[in-house]
Amino acid sequence: MNDQFGRKIEYLRLSLTERCTLKCTYCRASEGICPKKNELSADEFLRIVRATATLGIREVRLTGGEPMLRRDLMDIVSGIRAIDGIEEIAMTTNAQHLPGQSAALKQAGLDRLNISLDSLKPERYKAITGGGSLKRVLTGIDEALSAGFVPVKLNAVLLRGVNDDEADDFIALTKDRPIHVRFIEWMPLGENDQTDLRVTGDDLLSTRPYLVPVPPLYRGQPSRDYYIPGHVGRVGFINPVSHRFCAECNRIRVTSDGTLRPCLGDNLEFPLKDALGSGDEAQLEGAIRNAIWNKPESHSFCRSFHTERTMSRIGG
Ligand code: SAM
Repeated sequence: MNDQFGRKIEYLRLSLTERCTLKCTYCRASEGICPKKNELSADEFLRIVRATATLGIREVRLTGGEPMLRRDLMDIVSGIRAIDGIEEIAMTTNAQHLPGQSAALKQAGLDRLNISLDSLKPERYKAITGGGSLKRVLTGIDEALSAGFVPVKLNAVLLRGVNDDEADDFIALTKDRPIHVRFIEWMPLGENDQTDLRVTGDDLLSTRPYLVPVPPLYRGQPSRDYYIPGHVGRVGFINPVSHRFCAECNRIRVTSDGTLRPCLGDNLEFPLKDALGSGDEAQLEGAIRNAIWNKPESHSFCRSFHTERTMSRIGG
């Protein structure tokens, strides 16, 4: 369905849990482990996806927190696969639990995989993520490609003086394999203000004139894509702060406690718990319809925006 500004809403991001294996410095470093209580069940997530599919959602992305911490992840993927109208299922993961799982995910019906990776240096990766293993991520990438997740997208948040010296190392990963590296601008979510360290897409592009623009691969994708002639993969820039793309935004988010957040950068939220509890699918559909209609026209990142919810609590 369209929202009140005429945008066709086709993309749902489901945060399966707020829990995460990692504590990335710029995301949830100061938080403890979020409790499991309040997380929707697999069945509740599937009811939400079914309702949104009747309203025109075509793509679902599983995220979190760390979606691979859900023991029922495979059931959720295969359950979504069976829902009429859903054409694409994707997942964003830190890949700490990915080794050994890619083939099963493919088999369950997952179409696309994004892996978050902020450094290619083992010690630095460990420091940024609060203890993560780079080796597990690299193994996860190899296995994902072998299992047929092509391309694998890598998401990197570069921060000045922290990891921005690795931009070219990331770009080099696109040379021989179908890897799409995407540089994502840091967004002001949660309490760890990194505004002064933010690296914009323009910062990176201005010194790399050899990057050639290419048309988007997917409908509604937020990244502006480039490639280096002769390279197999792509380099994308997701610039929600410096070049907002709200007019083309086709997405809504549901947090792990069943709250529909129509815009990442706006605190307007619509709890779905009562509608879910009622057992009445028409009521659930009505609540979602209302939330979609009221999706804010644009995010508020540039208007002294503040939210206590980090990306890991909203669903990155
Ligand atoms: N745990 C999964 C993962 O690491 O991919 C999914 C959730 S994580 C919150 C999703 C993405 O959000 C990661 O790529 C992370 O780098 C990014 N992220 C977290 N906080 C961010 C922020 N404030 N601005 C931009 N990206 C952020």
